[in-house]
Amino acid sequence: MNANQVRRLVVLGTGGTIAGRAAQANDNVGYVAGQVAVSDLVAMVPALSACPVDVEQVAQINSKDMVLGVWQALAARVAAHLDRPEVAGIVITHGTDTIEETAYLLQTLLRPSKPVVLTCAMRPSTALVPDGPQNLSDAVAVALHPGAQGVVVVCAGRIHGAMDVAKVHPYATDPFDSGDAGVLGCVEEAQLRMFRSWPQSAPEGTHDAAALQRLLSAAALPRVELIFSHANADGEVVRALLGHHAAARLSGIVVAGTGNGTVHDDLLRALKQAQASGVEVVVASRCAFGRVVPHSAQPLPDSAGLSPVKARLALALRLLEA
Ligand code: ASP
Repeated sequence: MNANQVRRLVVLGTGGTIAGRAAQANDNVGYVAGQVAVSDLVAMVPALSACPVDVEQVAQINSKDMVLGVWQALAARVAAHLDRPEVAGIVITHGTDTIEETAYLLQTLLRPSKPVVLTCAMRPSTALVPDGPQNLSDAVAVALHPGAQGVVVVCAGRIHGAMDVAKVHPYATDPFDSGDAGVLGCVEEAQLRMFRSWPQSAPEGTHDAAALQRLLSAAALPRVELIFSHANADGEVVRALLGHHAAARLSGIVVAGTGNGTVHDDLLRALKQAQASGVEVVVASRCAFGRVVPHSAQPLPDSAGLSPVKARLALALRLLEA
């Protein structure tokens, strides 16, 4: 970048509670997500008047309703803005419900050497004390921080890496956890205090452009179902899925196993049957923390430390290559 070029910030809006509206100020749960334009959210944050900003509304959804088309639009815009030398970083406003999946997707596909900071809120913009403006302000501090890189989630003053972050609370204003890895750092009065290094970026220009292109041109993601093993489980759901194999175009199953990726006997038999009929099966742990520790007697391949929802996405992306 030439010294005269200004460091710009890009803010992309996708909806979520941060853009939500409720009829009453004291209602933090009965709101409609994705109502307020991202340009209006940006206007509420003083930190964003201090630098040049490009604002785009990529989508306006409740992130529980995330679909491939929104991911495609978002990934394409993020990739295009990352290529602009004058852009220092990107902030994305997003719902909390599936933010960990979007963060994982963007980090896996782009491994950016600039910061891509997803942020959100647990209370709608109409709340008595909304958390969105502070989270957005913190996200801006992260996106403009010298040396910041990779896809991160910023919420409640904490910076989480895309690979580790998970939503663990349905109501608290600090609903995320990064498990054993811990948070990357925190934001205090716009200052960063870092504990760990930023997510790994691909050496300049070496991210897997083919993988991104495959996502962008896909008409659908390969169908990967996510099921749980639990007390009194059986293989009926898997057998039903296999019965509709051709019609449902089932390509993979991720099973959230008990403990160290163990699976109820009858369910395991059905999963083996699925494997034998060409369906890819991966086991993750339904435990909130830790990962499946591999061992020689393991009956199914494990998710290499990914949570069930991220393992599902990882398998779909891998099957997209096939
Ligand atoms: N359902 C909302 C969403 O994910 C929740 C939130 O943003 O906190 O869009």
